[in-house]
Amino acid sequence: SAKGQGRNRYQFYSEDLTYAAAERLRLEHDLRGALSRDEIFPLYQPQIELATGRVIGVEALMRWNRAGQGLISPASFIPVAEDSGLILALGEYILRKACLQARQWHEHQGFQGTIAVNVSAVQFRQNDFTDVVLRVLSETGFPPECLELEVTESVVMQGLESVVQKMGILESHGIKLAIDDFGTGYSSLSYLRQFAIDRLKIDQSFVRDLPGDADAQAIIRAIVAMGRSLGLRVMAEGVETEAQARFLQDIECTESQGYLYARPMKSNDFEAWLKTRN
Ligand code: C2E
Ligand code: MG
Ligand code: MG
Ligand code: MG
Repeated sequence: SAKGQGRNRYQFYSEDLTYAAAERLRLEHDLRGALSRDEIFPLYQPQIELATGRVIGVEALMRWNRAGQGLISPASFIPVAEDSGLILALGEYILRKACLQARQWHEHQGFQGTIAVNVSAVQFRQNDFTDVVLRVLSETGFPPECLELEVTESVVMQGLESVVQKMGILESHGIKLAIDDFGTGYSSLSYLRQFAIDRLKIDQSFVRDLPGDADAQAIIRAIVAMGRSLGLRVMAEGVETEAQARFLQDIECTESQGYLYARPMKSNDFEAWLKTRN
């Protein structure tokens, strides 16, 4: 009967939910021990100046080598890390690791660029966020003006006085700020005038449709033009083909990051890659 089928369907549905909830709990449990088991580390992806091919920066991208499951992408565990508060320890760990590594590259590999570190809204919201960043910089001896923090529009659109205040503190130390995934967040652009922002990173969803898609072209042209007139640097994310890079160069987008140049790499692979570029 229909009633019976309905009950069966409900049963399956609820078993699915139970399974998903159990999976999530297991993930959180495993993630809780991941740092002490040394399973968390950054990969590094170069950032390129389009006109010269120069490596102007490196972005640190978190990975989790989860026991028995291989490398796990942050998309699948950052939400759990944020809900559980674990993101605070994980984020600080990646920040410290990246600053130490970049300092070493400055001193021994002839690398002079910035290190970009992603910051979750949950981290940014903490009262002691700027203290944590400044402490890591002083403990690692890394120059603040070579650190760039990548935040999404959701962080700046909180629009709270404390956001303005924190950005002011970061700026006063020379720390750079980039808006990640630009164009996918809120539509208000007024925050671009309010905050000390250095760079817009055009979201890869627009870049993916280059050079063929007229709408993607129009949006990217607009972002590049706006960035230029506001004195911001503009970087395209997710650049995979020569044709995309050529389009970006033609419209005078100055910076680029993506598989076309390199995938995110372990630190020693980045060093080898850097040597072949020089
Ligand atoms: P994101 O910061 O926007 O980083 C760009 C993502 O695109 C990265 O994915 C990178 O591996 C990938 N990517 C780079 N070039 C290409 C390309 O040419 N084509 C394609 N299809 N993809 C490309 P990943 O490493 O999986 O990171 C995903 C997101 O997780 C990041 O997006 C960032 O929002 C977040 N994330 C990564 N590391 C951290 C971290 O340490 N802390 C926090 N809070 N979030 C992080
Ligand atoms: Mg990023
Ligand atoms: Mg992005
Ligand atoms: Mg993102």
